[in-house]
Amino acid sequence: MVVEEFELVHHKEGTYFLRVNKNIIADYFYNLEAEFGSLIQIDVCSHCYYPGCSDFGFIEVIDFNKYIIWKEPLSSKYVSSNREFQSNLRFNQGTIFWTRAKYIEFITLMKQMNRNTNDCFGAKPTVIDLYELWRLEGSKIYSSEGAPTYTLDYIYENRIGMYNEVLSENQCELILKQAMKAINSENFEIFEINFLMKPIVMIFDIPIYKEWKCLYMMNDEVFYSIGEGLVVRIS
Ligand SMILES: [Zn+2]
Repeated sequence: MVVEEFELVHHKEGTYFLRVNKNIIADYFYNLEAEFGSLIQIDVCSHCYYPGCSDFGFIEVIDFNKYIIWKEPLSSKYVSSNREFQSNLRFNQGTIFWTRAKYIEFITLMKQMNRNTNDCFGAKPTVIDLYELWRLEGSKIYSSEGAPTYTLDYIYENRIGMYNEVLSENQCELILKQAMKAINSENFEIFEINFLMKPIVMIFDIPIYKEWKCLYMMNDEVFYSIGEGLVVRIS
């Protein structure tokens, strides 16, 4: 979801409920501090209320410039730390998108409360992050219930077809296959979807008919759908 409003409500031992758009997304929020690279523990241990005690309650924060994104941690990125960072339990509500202005508002509040905000903008995006956001979006649409964990390959294999306003199905296939190949770039830009962008739609029929507007095309450029009406261009 895109953060429209956020609220901190007193909980136990100096922790807070963190509410975003009326949904509780953390029960024991304490600091807005990134540790272990770009991970923030938004839910501290519910026994001692001490940040860093448990491996649970983490989100990964990525700085896409216009938007700061909170998503489930991608464990494989942190193998060297020998810890299995687990997502915060509330995070099955999906990826959270902060506009930069809204995030700065949040940081300002945390600073006023004398809480740590070190490195809270997280890391610059990599192609791995983009693919993960793209996969999460597709997985959420493909999945009928629960935590979406499908891989892109799995989702792709279970399609019954693809279409676009002007492209043939074969052309859609080629563009998608190209988009699924790892691309070496460090420039990722988020755009809001506009009417000039035409979706490439993947269709499923299990267990019911569903569509995923997985890519958008505009002037031969490819945009990756990451949900909430937002797409990413690699340049
Ligand atoms: Zn503890």
